[in-house]
Order: sequence, then structure tokens, then C-alpha cells
Amino acid sequence: MIEFQNVSKSFGDLQVLNKLNMHVNKGEKIALIGPSGSGKTTILRILMTLETINAGHVFIDSDYLWHQKTAKGIIPASEKHLHHMRSNVGMVFQQFNLFPHLDVMNNIVEPQILVKGKDKVNATVQAQKLLALVGLEEKAQHYPHELSGGQQQRVAIARALALEPKIMLFDEVTSALDPELVDEVLNVLRILAEDTDTTMLTVTHEMNFAREFADRVLFFDKGQIVESGSPEDIFTRPKESRTRGFLKKFIRDIV
Ligand code: ADP
Ligand code: MG
Repeated sequence: MIEFQNVSKSFGDLQVLNKLNMHVNKGEKIALIGPSGSGKTTILRILMTLETINAGHVFIDSDYLWHQKTAKGIIPASEKHLHHMRSNVGMVFQQFNLFPHLDVMNNIVEPQILVKGKDKVNATVQAQKLLALVGLEEKAQHYPHELSGGQQQRVAIARALALEPKIMLFDEVTSALDPELVDEVLNVLRILAEDTDTTMLTVTHEMNFAREFADRVLFFDKGQIVESGSPEDIFTRPKESRTRGFLKKFIRDIV
């Protein structure tokens, strides 16, 4: 479903990704862990077409993301191709970014009308279903500023799901929350992981959550995948010293 082939990305002189190779299967739930500044957000932003790449190829569902195939060969993607590819991917960010002037219902309905051309009735039915999934049916007529951070993130998740993406990206979605609100958001992700076959990529510092949520954990450092394995492998018998060093900060019983 996702393939990075020798992808490089720099910001000025700073090389963030250096010939990164990464592969995610359809339906896989991946937790991306690693130190701050290691390039995790950049990977998600590339998939969301918010950042360009300098070299290599990215594929989504076997189709070039940043390029397209023509009779003349592989050329940089047109805006039309990017627009089409972008519709495969939904993302929820660390910072709550709901539309402040729309109530909860319309935050979820409007994008379906604008992006997918749905009619209002169908979009509303879909929104009600998703609000039930995230446990916020009774907040449909409220505005974002009337909700807690945890509730806003749950609406943001529902809004992204409403566009029925093949891939969902979650970037530290609980980092800006007060501690007591973290679980209500992680619980929604746990339910999604169990109940849907959407491919999910989650950047998180919540190691217990990563352990339950993920089919596979990628430990990422300095723009490279240092180690990849089952949660069991990564959290109880990490092979690489860099992985052990990182996890020690979170988990006391790592040797
Ligand atoms: P992570 O999410 O793992 O913390 P990021 O992908 O956000 O890491 O960042 C990787 C590196 O790239 C960091 O050193 C960061 O400061 C830098 N960086 C990210 N975005 C930009 C940008 N738009 N301009 C310049 N540097 C950036
Ligand atoms: Mg980040």
C-alpha cells in the first residue's frame, strides 16, 4: 500500500531522509517511533503531499505519488495527479485543526461535499455514523471552541475517516492533550485498528499504546529505519543498541 524507494529529502543543507526504503502492506497498522527530529513527521507529510521529495520514488497502492508514467517515461507529477493521489490519504495532526466557524457536524459534512462531491443527505448519514464511532453524537451542534482537546481530536479523526481514505496517518495526535484526555483519543485509534482494514501509520510516544495498536513497529533514527519488527520483538528483545537506548527512556525493564 505504501512504498518508499531510495527517498531523499533535504531542507536546505539539512538532509532529513537519505535513500529511505520503507514498505507497508495493505491493512497493516504501523507505529513509527523514534527521537524528535528524526524525520517521522516528514515521512507523513510527504505521503500527504505537503512536502516534496528530492530523489527516489514513493508509491501508494502501486501508483507513483510524486511522479507519473507517460509515453515519454517517468515525469514529475502534475497537479491533477497529485490531487487524485492525495484523496487516498487522510491525516490527523498534533495540533487540533478543525474549522472554527463550522459546528462539529459541518466539520465532517462539508469536506465530503467539497472533496468527494457527496450530497448533503449522504454526507450527514456518514457523519452521524462516524460521530457515533468516536462517541460524540451529542456534540454534533457544538463548535470546536466548546469542546475539550480530546473531543476535538476525535472529531478530527471522524472528519478524516469521512473521506474514506485507503491510508490514515496520525502524527502524535495526543501530544498536545492534557494527560487525562489522552486515553479517550487512543481508545478511538484502538477501535479503528481492530474494526477497519484501513492501512494506518501512527507516530507516537505512547509506547504502551504502540504495543497494543501496531502489527509492526518501526524504530526510526536520523532518517533511517534502524529496526523493524513485531511489538513483541521491538519492546522486549530489541536487537539494535540505538533502539534499546531510546526505549530505556520509556520502559525501565529493557536490558
Ligand atoms: P520528527 O517528526 O521525527 O520529530 P521532523 O520530520 O519533523 O522530525 O523533522 C526532521 C528534521 O527536519 C528536523 O531537524 C526539523 O527541524 C527539520 N525540518 C522539518 N521541517 C522543516 C522545514 N519545513 N524547514 C526546515 N527544516 C525542517
Ligand atoms: Mg514530528
